[in-house]
Amino acid sequence: MKKHNFGAGPCILPASVTERAAQAVLDWNGMGLSILEISHRSPEFEAVILKTQLLIRELLHVPDSYSVLFLQGGASTQFNMVPMNFLKPGLRADYLDTGYFSQKAIREASLFGKVRVVASSADKDYSYIPDYIDEKHDAAYLHCTSNNTIEGTEMFHLPETKVPVICDMSSDIFSRIINVRDFDLIYAGAQKNMGPAGLTLVIVKNALLERIDKAIPAMSDYRVYKDHNSLYNTPPVFSIYTAMLNLLWLKDQGGIPAIEHQNKKKAAMLYQEIDRNALFYGLATPAHRSRMNVTFKMHDEGLEPAFLSFASSRGIVGIKGYRTVGGFRASLYNALPISSVALLVEVMQEFEAEIGVGKIQAEYNMAI
Ligand code: PMP
Repeated sequence: MKKHNFGAGPCILPASVTERAAQAVLDWNGMGLSILEISHRSPEFEAVILKTQLLIRELLHVPDSYSVLFLQGGASTQFNMVPMNFLKPGLRADYLDTGYFSQKAIREASLFGKVRVVASSADKDYSYIPDYIDEKHDAAYLHCTSNNTIEGTEMFHLPETKVPVICDMSSDIFSRIINVRDFDLIYAGAQKNMGPAGLTLVIVKNALLERIDKAIPAMSDYRVYKDHNSLYNTPPVFSIYTAMLNLLWLKDQGGIPAIEHQNKKKAAMLYQEIDRNALFYGLATPAHRSRMNVTFKMHDEGLEPAFLSFASSRGIVGIKGYRTVGGFRASLYNALPISSVALLVEVMQEFEAEIGVGKIQAEYNMAI
């Protein structure tokens, strides 16, 4: 049975992309070589890097004053690279604490200098995005997380500040229109809307790099990636190639405006059912509900294993909530078809019918 993959990452990729990638593993462009076997310094691969960078620039309208870099080590490595490059004793970095991954970023940054958590939603289990208006404008940078993959919240309005804004966009990059100029550095692990795991994207304003005035180990120094066009050492060749295929797919879909339209539709369908269905409730505050990761639970937690196996019997996979949150998380990344969301909604309705709305209402005294 074809599975409907709601996994949070690595996650669903378009079938046409995995097919082309599979073909390239066998024989890339009729070269008689696998994509896994070619030199990263070959002109063919240099063309792939260039094409991938150009697609990113085109899709996100990246200005010329920014560099597009390919790194490894996941977004988690960016948690330490950002402060390693931009923070030092005597300077302070401001962080927004909006969930599990921002906490990790905060912990790493505090190894390099002073860190101030300027706003947090920890008081309500990270179910919302706190507002923040900077009054001091004296930090080395402000770090935020645009989409909280585990908690299911998304930042639709940026904090107001005059200091450089650095954003972890791992789980919503390429899903909606952004203005790159609002940020000084964007980073993202590729394994959601960009491509397979193994690649990390960094988009950085060149002026920010010019401010760095210290020696940094080469593999952690953004300037080295810029100066060597991300070919200082061996980059993740296959991940970059597959990301290129995926970005070509995105362009064919009509680019980010078209995919954002689809993503809004998919998220609205699922949240509508969560709000309507007497068995379920959403975890995030409505204004901050993520379009990528929809988190929800059942009023009767005891029913959750039954719903999970009911859904899995219909081919739905990847909806178990993160272990610290529980419940469910349905990730609706770009490549997930709307028909998969329609099926999940149908399955929720069938489960509700099977359990019996009357019984549930009586038990919890709820109105629907
Ligand atoms: N930040 C966010 C928002 C994430 O969702 C993740 C993981 N998916 C990470 C950071 C960590 O990324 P990685 O596993 O690539 O290190």
